[in-house]
Amino acid sequence: MLNLRYLALPLIRAAYKPLLVFFLLCVPYLYLCQMSYCSSLKGDSEHYKRLRYKMVEEQIAARGIDDENVLQAMRDVPRHLFVPKRKRSSAYGDFPLPIGYGQTISQPYIVALMTKLLDPERDDCALEVGTGSGYQAAVLSQIVRKVYTVEIIPPLGKAAEKRLKEAAYENITVKVGDGYYGWEEYAPFDCIIVTAASDHIPPPLIRQLKKGGKMAIPVGGPFQVQNLMLIEKSEEGEIQMKNILPVRFVPLRRK
Ligand code: SAH
Repeated sequence: MLNLRYLALPLIRAAYKPLLVFFLLCVPYLYLCQMSYCSSLKGDSEHYKRLRYKMVEEQIAARGIDDENVLQAMRDVPRHLFVPKRKRSSAYGDFPLPIGYGQTISQPYIVALMTKLLDPERDDCALEVGTGSGYQAAVLSQIVRKVYTVEIIPPLGKAAEKRLKEAAYENITVKVGDGYYGWEEYAPFDCIIVTAASDHIPPPLIRQLKKGGKMAIPVGGPFQVQNLMLIEKSEEGEIQMKNILPVRFVPLRRK
């Protein structure tokens, strides 16, 4: 009978050296590739995180916003994922950015200020008019129990809904529609935030604001100075209005 040992041994001896060289070269190479891939991914998010913390320090806390819930929400939400890809490097700048269809994502300070004005609490249910990119809704959703948000431009609303779902913001519901009428089904709301300017405060929004609730809204025409206003509804249902500061927002459209 043929002894396999006499056949296999020379073969193993002949292949041993090239195989050893192959493994010695390949294993460290694959290891290095994997390391550099992981660190490039990590470096990427670390880079944006650093920019975000800097943004909160220099643009928001430095201008007097000291509500820790708001500051933490602004540190946590990855703003660069809410702007068009080619604008990511400017996502943490001190300015608004275009998001398509003639609309803009507000300057980070304005997002923080409007959130703070609402005085949001853990158990609150909030309404946003003007979803845009979904960024403001994401920031607010870090603080309150539930955010309903309405967008009038269908592709913007759909894209924001997809983005928010992919990023697992599970307490936000997006609807395409005219936010002038609020969202009757889920009213009344503890807070309402309107991120497009109107020349008057939409009466349906006043009605859908809970007693003791707050609304932040820019008021003024597109070619006028607009005022960011804080509307408060007392426990007795009385309305108080306060001018906060002059702002520039895109107009609240009507269908
Ligand atoms: N909050 C957004 C930015 C808002 S820009 C963000 O964080 O990205 C203002 C948005 O309001 C635009 O997307 C605009 O299409 C939307 N809008 C304008 N009029 C509206 C209306 N009547 N109802 C709902 N959304 C409206």
